[in-house]
Amino acid sequence: MVGIHGHADAARLAVLALHALQHRGQEGAGVATWDGAAMRCHRGRGLVGEVFGPTDLAPLAGAVAIGHVRYSTAGGDALRNIQPLVVRSRAGQVAIAHNGNLVNAQRLRQDLEARGSIFNSSADTEVVLHLLAASAQETFVNRLVEALYQVEGAYSMVLLAEGRLVAVRDPWGFRPLVLGRLGEAWVVASESCALDLLGARLIREVEAGEMIIIDAQGLQSLQPLPRRPRRACVFEQIYFARPDSVVFGRPVYGWRHELGRRLAEEHPVAADVVIPVPDSGLPGALGYAEQSRLPFQLGLLRSHYVGRTFIEPSQQIRDLGVKLKLSPVREVLAGRRVVVVDDSLVRGTTARKIVRMLRDQGAAEVHLRITAPPTTGGCFYGVDTPDRDALLAARMSPAQIGAWLEADSLGYLSLEGLRAVQGEDRGRYCEACFSGDYPVRPGAEGPAQQLPLFVPGA
Ligand code: AMP
Repeated sequence: MVGIHGHADAARLAVLALHALQHRGQEGAGVATWDGAAMRCHRGRGLVGEVFGPTDLAPLAGAVAIGHVRYSTAGGDALRNIQPLVVRSRAGQVAIAHNGNLVNAQRLRQDLEARGSIFNSSADTEVVLHLLAASAQETFVNRLVEALYQVEGAYSMVLLAEGRLVAVRDPWGFRPLVLGRLGEAWVVASESCALDLLGARLIREVEAGEMIIIDAQGLQSLQPLPRRPRRACVFEQIYFARPDSVVFGRPVYGWRHELGRRLAEEHPVAADVVIPVPDSGLPGALGYAEQSRLPFQLGLLRSHYVGRTFIEPSQQIRDLGVKLKLSPVREVLAGRRVVVVDDSLVRGTTARKIVRMLRDQGAAEVHLRITAPPTTGGCFYGVDTPDRDALLAARMSPAQIGAWLEADSLGYLSLEGLRAVQGEDRGRYCEACFSGDYPVRPGAEGPAQQLPLFVPGA
């Protein structure tokens, strides 16, 4: 997700930024701009490079743009769900892009539909547009605050409202969002790697519960939402974010490296070589190898021409996908006792195939190490996880999982180890998928207490 304000080439910058954020969603992409009089939007299914051909940018005139890459956790991957969602309403012309998942969207939608709202998509994000339009407040910002008082859950959002760029992060701070500067232009993005690509300077995170409004007058920061305990998604650090990003104020690469070191302390093993599952297991494997003083080698190569196997629809295609994506290097593996490091084990599809693949290449022993605790629960806040009964760790002990994977041993990082890496932010992360401690459950009501004093003229 990205927002640009005050640059003559806003749409082009937005598309470039989406390339840097491609790992956050591969199902669809879109950009909306405001040219001073009208909203323009181009969206499509597929990767950014597939959606934006050479002629698609020309119509996207204007100095303000927002963009999004889609990874569906609510609403499916139909074209109508691809963001930004754009509407013309009594709140004006509005485009919205959202990262996260609203836990009370279904109930809000039912209420709105009962009052006559007609929804155009099945995405949870659309309720915010309906609430905006239904608000009796006079200014756009106050309408938005009123809408956000009714939603609950995870949202980092950018909105484009007739030349004004609004960036907002939910009070828990589940999903990341950063603010940067490119000359006189402002940039907001899910991750700092998008700023780096544009040559923009990282200024700071958008704070949890903060709303930033950027218009011709400059930047205004409000804290209109009720305070909550901070619960940044720990899985961003473990897997989701790109390792060259700074997320929640900490460089991701260093985080993952440290997870690997801890894992080596917790689960050492006599072995000849440490290999990563590329790309996501790489920094963790380096940390593991360094701490255990074992050689680090590339025992698996990744093809960059096939998509992520995880999000393929059927088990059969997923199984094939692992082979399409990863190829073993016999020279590194034959006759060796191998430690293979990955960031997470969800259904175990990837790991089971990998163990078999390594043995087929002559590995003498295969020891699997995971730089996260067992995934025992699903996510309600924007990470796509299968139903609980498809989660290996929800129904088997680590020893049983190791046996099922046919590994010689399996070691997960402990929850305590994960917390140690959090350092001074310990206790400020959402770890619900590992601990079962969910900050807010599906169906929870929005804050709905007294609305704050609104900002006159905002
Ligand atoms: P699985 O094969 O189901 O055990 O999935 C684990 C693999 O998928 C690991 O290699 C992870 O890097 C990756 N992974 C974990 N969670 C997700 C997710 N939510 N979306 C996409 N990939 C994921």
